[in-house]
Amino acid sequence: MRKKAPPAQAYAQISRKLMLRAPAEKPAAARHHAQAYALQDISASRWRAIEHQARFLQLELWNSRNSLWKSDAPNDPIDVLQPGVALKQKGYKIQTVDSLPEETHQGQRIKTAGLLDQDNRVVQISRAFSRQEQFFTSAHELGHVVLGHDGVRIHRDRPMDQVGWYKDQREHEADWFAACFLMPAKQVRSWFGNLFLTEHFILTEQTAFALCTKPIDVVMSRFRTRRDLSIALARANMYGTRPMPSLVELFNVTPQAMAIRLEELDLVADPRPT
Ligand SMILES: [Zn+2]
Repeated sequence: MRKKAPPAQAYAQISRKLMLRAPAEKPAAARHHAQAYALQDISASRWRAIEHQARFLQLELWNSRNSLWKSDAPNDPIDVLQPGVALKQKGYKIQTVDSLPEETHQGQRIKTAGLLDQDNRVVQISRAFSRQEQFFTSAHELGHVVLGHDGVRIHRDRPMDQVGWYKDQREHEADWFAACFLMPAKQVRSWFGNLFLTEHFILTEQTAFALCTKPIDVVMSRFRTRRDLSIALARANMYGTRPMPSLVELFNVTPQAMAIRLEELDLVADPRPT
């Protein structure tokens, strides 16, 4: 069994991108998150090319781990998925700051979570966001760098779950890169199979009890959508009687980001198929 996610300080030197967030998040925000790295704006070939670029960078980090981490070189491929290390390798300076200036968009004040300064090769990330959000933001900025999105000298991003904010294609591409970089298909599939003993989770009396220790009718009343179930699987640190690290802990991402990835990889069946 792989150890739990590295402690917070392990990511203290991770890069932080510029991002923005609504002051008070609504409960529905998680559902809107589903659109955060929606792929419909990207052609299939472009989508695959971005995934390959993320994969190539992962291999590069893995093969260079002894020089990049020296005596702390990771033993597990998941542990090289550190966007801050990759950004530094590409010549970017990473700064973590207490906060970044807010912006106003359509009358709404929005916090800045990260900033990418292409001229000076500096990435700043605000500590106002959770560790997992900062991590995803860092990977998003790494995506801009790797994909050559250098049309804007100083780039700011809003959070993935910013309701009512429509990202342009480059933002979708950077989000997709971040998802592929932080949650490689092969490793997510492998860990999902280890944890839930299946390649395609179907809610049954048995699996519902293993996941929630409740009868299936109670569980069904909790999971109104496939996303609800996917989030529960992403967060689960117990299945049956077996304690385990959750996928969220293993990959250091938000439950919403992991849930989207599980669905993209078709690892979760809709509990209420139409
Ligand atoms: Zn961006």
